[in-house]
Amino acid sequence: MRLSAFAVKNLNQRKSNIFASMPKTNDIRRQKKADILEWFLEKGHPKFRANQVWEWLWKKGALSFDEMTNLSLSLREDLKSEFSFPSIQIETEQHSIDGTVKLRFELHDGHLIEGVLIPVVEEKRMTACVSSQVGCSLSCSFCATGFLKRERNLYGHEIYDQVQLINEISLKKFDMPLSNIVFMGMGEPLLNYSGITNGIDRLTAEDGKNISARRITVSTAGIAKMIKKAADDEVRWNLALSLHAANDEKRSRIMPINDQNDLNSLADALQYFRHKTGNKTTFEYILLNQFNDHPEDARELAAFVKRNPALINIIEYNQVEGVEFTSAKKDRLNAFVRELVRNDVKVTVRKSRGEDIDAACGQLANK
Ligand code: SF4
Repeated sequence: MRLSAFAVKNLNQRKSNIFASMPKTNDIRRQKKADILEWFLEKGHPKFRANQVWEWLWKKGALSFDEMTNLSLSLREDLKSEFSFPSIQIETEQHSIDGTVKLRFELHDGHLIEGVLIPVVEEKRMTACVSSQVGCSLSCSFCATGFLKRERNLYGHEIYDQVQLINEISLKKFDMPLSNIVFMGMGEPLLNYSGITNGIDRLTAEDGKNISARRITVSTAGIAKMIKKAADDEVRWNLALSLHAANDEKRSRIMPINDQNDLNSLADALQYFRHKTGNKTTFEYILLNQFNDHPEDARELAAFVKRNPALINIIEYNQVEGVEFTSAKKDRLNAFVRELVRNDVKVTVRKSRGEDIDAACGQLANK
């Protein structure tokens, strides 16, 4: 049997991917625009049909060939016989009394991940919190996802789909589109660099969702080498560092990744990132009762921020079953913030959301 040029190219691509964590099928969502065009021309279809498919894939956010209603039935059947169309589905939806919506998504291979819609209606701020991996390898001791083995990285289209589905809920429930996207769900995004940059490319492209990269924040537990790589690539998104302690001994106790990426190396990488990109950086600091909420911790944090200018978000902890940590008490939180302000640090406190549902990262997928 003689294979077409397109089929040979895909066969070679599949062969070269044999050791990579990629689907072995001819996945339409991983094709380049030029390759889709090549397939259409080879099959004798006009060029504009390829553009229509591309538009369905990345602008309109279709989740199957059947949704491509301006294509004939026979063309859709042709596409189905040539390409697979992996997409994600909402498996469980939980609604909190504060408006937060937590979603458990099922991937094409049965794995489960999480995404959250965090609405702040009065500020017209609709934030999607998305996952970057199935599980996580970093084992932070306060995190429910840390209990889940890392199964695999997400593909760019799986990141895109989370945003698409959360946006649909935002429109349906609040009549407002998403205003922000944060990578603070399951997984360490910088350990899936190609997956997240792929997804972000499709979300920000003019022929994709055309979302401003300035509205996207990638939150990392701190992989210095990858922060520098993002800087060299001159990415346009913002970076948040999950700091949680401004002293190496304490940070290593809750975040083992700190053993290879200590505060000095992170400070150095962040400085490089700011210098190369000019993008915003933020420090996230979950306040854990009697662990990192002492006045001394606040002074260490203030000193770290003075050396590495960034916004600070203090986050109230969402209790995780089986974890020794609890959220800092109100008076300790207030004293911590006062100490930061006394040291001239600008700080925002993010209230815990969705406490009546499984809102902590990893809780729902863990069930
Ligand atoms: S906090 Fe983030 S990096 Fe740490 S275990 Fe949880 S998901 Fe992984």
